[in-house]
Amino acid sequence: MSDETVKYTLPERELPTHWVNIIPDLPGDPVPPLNPQTLEPAGPADLAPIFPEALIRQEVSPEPLVEIPDEVREVYKLWRPTPLYRARRLEKALDTPAHIYFKYEGVSPAGSHKPNSAVAQAYENKQAGIKRLVTETGAGQWGSALAFACSLLGLECVVYMVGASYDQKPYRRSMMQTWGATVHRSPSDTTDAGRSQQGHPTGSLGIAISEAVEVAAKDPETNYSLGSVLNHVCLHQTVIGQEALAQMQMAGEEPDVVIGCVGGGSNFAGLIFPFVRRVLRGEAKTRFIGAEPAACPTLTRGVYRYDFGDTVGMTPLLPMYTLGHDFVPPPVHAGGLRYHGDAPLLCALVKEGIVEARAYAQNPAFEAAVRFARSEGIVPGPEPAHAIRAAVDEALAAREAGEKRVILFGLSGHGHFDMAAYDAYLAGTLEDVEFSEADMQAALDRLPDAPAIA
Ligand SMILES: *Cc1c(COP(=O)(O)O)cnc(C)c1O
Repeated sequence: MSDETVKYTLPERELPTHWVNIIPDLPGDPVPPLNPQTLEPAGPADLAPIFPEALIRQEVSPEPLVEIPDEVREVYKLWRPTPLYRARRLEKALDTPAHIYFKYEGVSPAGSHKPNSAVAQAYENKQAGIKRLVTETGAGQWGSALAFACSLLGLECVVYMVGASYDQKPYRRSMMQTWGATVHRSPSDTTDAGRSQQGHPTGSLGIAISEAVEVAAKDPETNYSLGSVLNHVCLHQTVIGQEALAQMQMAGEEPDVVIGCVGGGSNFAGLIFPFVRRVLRGEAKTRFIGAEPAACPTLTRGVYRYDFGDTVGMTPLLPMYTLGHDFVPPPVHAGGLRYHGDAPLLCALVKEGIVEARAYAQNPAFEAAVRFARSEGIVPGPEPAHAIRAAVDEALAAREAGEKRVILFGLSGHGHFDMAAYDAYLAGTLEDVEFSEADMQAALDRLPDAPAIA
């Protein structure tokens, strides 16, 4: 056996003690969210009906570091610190001088990065005396993460799952039920919103959100929970980047470029923020690439405007790149990337030119994912397949240029529940759905009235 290291692992005692808050390091003043009625900056009061105070404090925290509660770290210990791999076999397969590293979040019980925030959210809700969390899930990953977190922290969990996914992904549902969650096929007959939408039997994320929010709004012991986009969710995910920083130091290398896939932006934010902070402080020069689906190209084709964070228009107005809150992306297999907007903190970094965005169609993403699976063994989720595509392109560009380049990408989850997508790719029936400029323009015409962002 050679003495070449493949996995860089940290001991449990090196699990981060704090989350990294990027807000105080961002250039300029943060652009505030707005109350959609008054168009005044939204304050804690606007969020209080659905979020506990501790999470609201995290949402607006001016502190560069936020302490991770001990009980949350105890739960993180079940799978954290996660491994950082050097993809030596992929490097050989690509015949590239580049060094490729990836940070693997698929080792969590739910199979993705999402429990990093689900556990923190369940903990703060429990502390606030909340009995039950309710949420929506599309592809099933967020619902699984929250069901897992609630089961460990002693909360009830109710998930409204988009009808079409409920039918196509029965095992995601079984997984949530195994952790004790109640899963409703949405539209359901348990809410007014669901009953009014029985004419749309396959459901939509918008309908599922309406059902979940209705349940939370009607019961003071029930809160709603969001799995991406908001500042506190990105904050929780920074355990990923802090560990990766330490692990890259173990490997004795400095990444030239850090890459991740972007749906609402949380796994990418969590990976890059600790690296971005060093760049903003002049301590490093690193490039950052966010990879999104060509069918839902928020960062590469959207407009930088105030828009609702959800499909039905219940959140404060968030400053972000958006395709329009009621834009319905075509049904690509990377369900976790089909979101009309992106985390405001990530959007600000794109606006500043610190983060670059690229869009990839499904077939090139799956081609890279299969190449990765056949060299590194792990079958990636369709979402991080986009990050792998970008990493492979960087490695091939390094070969072209004949230069060593250190590439780090986030492998946000495994694809074990997504084999239908691999079936379609392998059978050659996967379609590269066109993004419709006209549909986007129509959705942009329905953006809420709000000032332009300076
Ligand atoms: C949900 C999900 C995503 C997309 O969400 P982000 O908030 O952009 O991270 C990406 N990868 C996996 C595995 C997911 O489950």
